[in-house]
Amino acid sequence: MHNKNITIALAGNPNSGKTTLFNNITGTRQKVGNWPGVTVEKKEGIVSKHGYDLKIVDLPGTYSLTPFSVEEIIARDYVLEECPDVLIDIIDASNLERSLYLATQLRETDCKVIFALNMADVARTRGLKIDAEKLSELLDLPVVFTIGNKNEGIDTLLQKAIELAESESEISQKRRVKYSKDIENSITKLQRSIEKKIAGKLPYNSRWTAIKLLEDDRIVKERVVQKAGDNGQDIIQEIQELRKKLIDRFHEEPEMVMTDERYGFIAGIIKEVLTTSQKNRIDISRNIDLVLTHRFIGFPIFIFFIWAMFQLTFSLGAYPMDWIDMGVGGISALFESFLPDSLLKDLLINGIIAGVGSVIIFLPNILILFFCIALFEDTGYMARAAFLMDKIMHLIGLHGKSFIPMLMGFGCSVPAVIATRTLESEKDRILTILITPFMSCSAKLPVYIILAGTFFSAKAGTVIFAIYIFGIIAAFISGRLFRFTLLKGADAPFVMELPPYRAPMLKSVLIHMWDRGKMFLKKMGGIILIGSVVIWALSAFPRNIQYSVDYSAEIAGVNALYEAEIKTAARTADSFGMKSIEEEREAAISKIKLAQDAEKMEKSFMGRIGKKFAPLFAPLGIDWRGGVALLTGFVAKEIVVSTMGILYAAEEEEEDALQKTIISSGMTPLSALSMMIFVLLYLPCIATIAAIKHETGSLKWMFFSIAYTTSLAWVAAFCVYQGGRLIGLN
Ligand code: GDP
Ligand code: MG
Repeated sequence: MHNKNITIALAGNPNSGKTTLFNNITGTRQKVGNWPGVTVEKKEGIVSKHGYDLKIVDLPGTYSLTPFSVEEIIARDYVLEECPDVLIDIIDASNLERSLYLATQLRETDCKVIFALNMADVARTRGLKIDAEKLSELLDLPVVFTIGNKNEGIDTLLQKAIELAESESEISQKRRVKYSKDIENSITKLQRSIEKKIAGKLPYNSRWTAIKLLEDDRIVKERVVQKAGDNGQDIIQEIQELRKKLIDRFHEEPEMVMTDERYGFIAGIIKEVLTTSQKNRIDISRNIDLVLTHRFIGFPIFIFFIWAMFQLTFSLGAYPMDWIDMGVGGISALFESFLPDSLLKDLLINGIIAGVGSVIIFLPNILILFFCIALFEDTGYMARAAFLMDKIMHLIGLHGKSFIPMLMGFGCSVPAVIATRTLESEKDRILTILITPFMSCSAKLPVYIILAGTFFSAKAGTVIFAIYIFGIIAAFISGRLFRFTLLKGADAPFVMELPPYRAPMLKSVLIHMWDRGKMFLKKMGGIILIGSVVIWALSAFPRNIQYSVDYSAEIAGVNALYEAEIKTAARTADSFGMKSIEEEREAAISKIKLAQDAEKMEKSFMGRIGKKFAPLFAPLGIDWRGGVALLTGFVAKEIVVSTMGILYAAEEEEEDALQKTIISSGMTPLSALSMMIFVLLYLPCIATIAAIKHETGSLKWMFFSIAYTTSLAWVAAFCVYQGGRLIGLN
């Protein structure tokens, strides 16, 4: 027997707990976050329950069905055009009034709606009492209390949803918002023309269409014209007349009047169903905000949190990093001793283990960084950070909301670019997308750790912090530049959503961290592995190199030279002298071998490619190996380090081999700084570029971003390096 299918969509304000419920129902692990706009695309999952196959759709959070942002458009189109069997409106019970605005609009569609009064626990602790029965009666729909994060009430909710889907009853018309007489008259008039002229051409019901048209809804208007041709034009004409009359009557746009009336309707409901007990009204969130968003101390606290985040990332991360490093070294040594010399062994040790190994040791750092970001999101602090940054963001003509994608950019630019969808204005979005890659992503961190660790050992942390700050400054300057040239326009006023603080759930934070960590590991197995092998191949071939010097003859010469000395030492039984001679010999030989390796590398394919590009990097103080590493970073920034691991690692037996060879390659603190600046600013990785193309919807902006970031990187690195030399640094 086949189960019956029912589609259930979850709608609701941002942060009302949709994704939490979705995860509980479907058992999947979508990311939950305590700030607006985590869900930007709809997600689907299928479960079998109570003898039905339920398709659950998690819609992006919206406050209304007016097309102000991409998310609202996605959610609205879905509700209206795909018409799920049941719509669960997830209502933040602790914030009833605001949630009901969307609810009243959903009631205007033809969907079967059921309310989930989520955050029932929060409402209770705030002393809010909601009369669910009354609410259900007033709006004529089922109401269920739920506590998303404790999985309470979910089963009842599903049961009711199935019942509703199966019920034959018509959707009650009478429980909808009644507008004032003039407006209702216009709606009715318009509704009639719609039914006459374009009946069946649009997937919406006629009352809803009429309401939206009266509100001058851009998208609905476009659709009417598109679908109904001349008849559509007639209707547009009619709307204009009706709107004009209403404006005359109210001295205000009809949409304003209608919004007010909806709030009036809501106020009525609230009066009926909500009682607040006086005792419990102290709002903890508000008290916390008195400190955390305080005009003077809020900002230092914010800086402290960010500083603490990086501190934790590096200091705590150092321990597991050592362990993994030892593990990688052990594996490498194992293969070294067991495998016979062959090309395969070379590939395994110098290609795969060296390449992937040099990146995987940063997994702990990256996990800690993601853990902290997840913590900020889940507690609600992220939104406060945006609020605090609002003033500063205005300097580049953006508002605080743009700061959230930018902060996420410290983790990874891809979700950061996608997160810009929460911004209402197209220009703001593009501007934010263009500057987000300057927020140094976690993949660039390994490069800094290697370079700063090698050249600024004790001050490495400070140098890395300064690099991050430099990225932020670059973002600000670029932002200002774009705002006054390419993307002119004023920032739209807005209210920053400040969700209540919540104690973070360890499970949610861990899941969240792991989801992103998994991405990193997948990259390891995929693109970084392939990249490492390709880079190894390019550096291991061609095999038959004509060396400029006969290295084996030189080694033999050294051996012969020391042989004699050793004999003399042996004769005089000077064991101490013998040991030091032995050491000298070793050193002399390894010096020759190093020179041989260097020449081999130079003559490999990789060396030849590097040499071609060398003139481009020379003014930045970056040698051809660094240049090659930067070129490979286009694929993914982690590969910069694995390339360096392969190109520089000459003497594996020694500890800190990479650092030593980097130093011996002639790199200086100044050129290391220049290289870090270049890595910070230059073109984003393939995945980010794809995201930019997708989110801006234009190749033009994509290419602009590539060209702009790379030229800025070059110029900045040039200034750092040449400027540094001018003032006598090296
Ligand atoms: P969405 O934006 O609607 O998808 O909301 P999320 O599912 O991302 O949830 C936002 C936050 O609210 C998360 O931190 C959840 O853990 C938390 N949350 C969800 N439901 C409840 C609830 O019933 N009670 C409490 N106290 N927290 C909840
Ligand atoms: Mg969500």
